[in-house]
Amino acid sequence: MHLAPGSIPAVFWENGPISTAQPIRQTGEPVIELVGFDGDDTLWHSEGYYQSAHAAFERIIGEYIDLADVRVHDRLLATERRNIKLFGYGAKGMTLSMLESAIDITGQRISASDLQRIIELGKQVLAHPVDLLPGIRAAVEAVAQHHRVVLITKGDLFHQEQKVASSGLADLFHRIEIVSEKDEHAYRTVLEEFQLSPASFAMVGNSLRSDIAPVVEMGGWGVYMPYHVTWAHETETDFVDHSSRVVQVENPLGIAAAIEELRARAVA
Ligand SMILES: [Mg+2]
Repeated sequence: MHLAPGSIPAVFWENGPISTAQPIRQTGEPVIELVGFDGDDTLWHSEGYYQSAHAAFERIIGEYIDLADVRVHDRLLATERRNIKLFGYGAKGMTLSMLESAIDITGQRISASDLQRIIELGKQVLAHPVDLLPGIRAAVEAVAQHHRVVLITKGDLFHQEQKVASSGLADLFHRIEIVSEKDEHAYRTVLEEFQLSPASFAMVGNSLRSDIAPVVEMGGWGVYMPYHVTWAHETETDFVDHSSRVVQVENPLGIAAAIEELRARAVA
């Protein structure tokens, strides 16, 4: 979804300048003008909450069947993947997939009270506190001194809006895009709004599949910041970068320098 001014809560815009209408660079050497930041596990912690919910889900299912026999983890993942096109990404889709898997795996024996426990697991994920990665605010501020910055996050719209609002970071971004899938089409749409070519764009994120591969394959740049845990779905990529268009950093302290490194490569 594209969030135009006026269509989202004012908190997103009250401090952030909106200056996307003017073309910045039509000719000349390619320079990185715009830097995108992923949200989950790049700005704030997220995956740990999902993995805790999965672990609690398995404990509930384990009261019915022998976990070792039925590959609960694999079956839940398969159900979640199958349902992405229907439910989209995020905690609500995960909750529905957990309910479906629980009914399926237990042969419809699961009790209503245990289904209720599973719904509560989903609600806990939706209500988790927004904890920023250490140093991320300073990192975004440092990048924003020389580049326009945009937050590009995917997942449940309502949940992502809440996370953006409680993160306290909304004022740093020129634009906030909450998309249903982070693919080439989504990135091209953002770049069209800024009237920029992919060569002028770098994306910072923890997912090779969603944040780095589509951008680099379009001709953009990537700062890959792996998170200590990754949802199995996001690890599925055959992307291998040999093009020097990606810099890997360990934590937010390295982001600004990585962008400058890419900028130097872009003009080299
Ligand atoms: Mg992420």
